[in-house]
Amino acid sequence: MNILAIGAHPDDIEMQCAGTLALYARAGHRVIMAVATNGNVGSPTHTRKEIGDIRKKEQKASCALIGAELIWMDFDDEWLFDTRETRVRFIDAIREANPDVMIIHGPTDYHPDHRISGRVAEDARIPASVRLVETSLPYIKKIPHIFYMDNPVGLDFEPEAFVDISSTFETKRAMLLKHESQDTWMRAVYGEHTSIADMMTQNAALRGSASGVAYAEGFREVKTYPRTGSFARLPGFGG
Ligand SMILES: [Zn+2]
Repeated sequence: MNILAIGAHPDDIEMQCAGTLALYARAGHRVIMAVATNGNVGSPTHTRKEIGDIRKKEQKASCALIGAELIWMDFDDEWLFDTRETRVRFIDAIREANPDVMIIHGPTDYHPDHRISGRVAEDARIPASVRLVETSLPYIKKIPHIFYMDNPVGLDFEPEAFVDISSTFETKRAMLLKHESQDTWMRAVYGEHTSIADMMTQNAALRGSASGVAYAEGFREVKTYPRTGSFARLPGFGG
């Protein structure tokens, strides 16, 4: 299968579903990580260009740990809107990935870029399969399954599908640790003393305890037309 995760910023995908993506990759599936914005405001010292370049390098290093492909959409951080330009770019990301499964941000997420990227991704799923919606890439022939990922503190998010990531948890942590500049930024803004890897360890343990395993990631199937299944689990995972 082709698995496409779409995140708003470098590190978002890792935070919410890197353990699941690592499992997919280990099972031989093709994993694609699409990042909408270039993270070019996340620094207390660098210029926008400098930090954007750093974050792209960090994202590539993270993807390399599981052999994931990267689609770098390169929109400005904090300025993501639902426009014709973003729709076309998201449609092309979906067409390039030709996914069986899409994992996107949900509508209850705290960050506007997350909510917009989730909404545009959800709304681009059908047009990506329409022949006369003409972009630079050909239309896809199947409508993918689509799931919302969790958000960092589980805000207003009740998972209905859990993936046991106990065996790939260290890989998830290693991927998060590649986003070194984000830790510097978070400490500068929020005075955080923990890394994003530590923060997400708490989330994975919380979702793990809800599903009876050490570490888990939580998802919800997007209830939309057309339903591609009735999944209380992600395709490829038993239960
Ligand atoms: Zn983010």
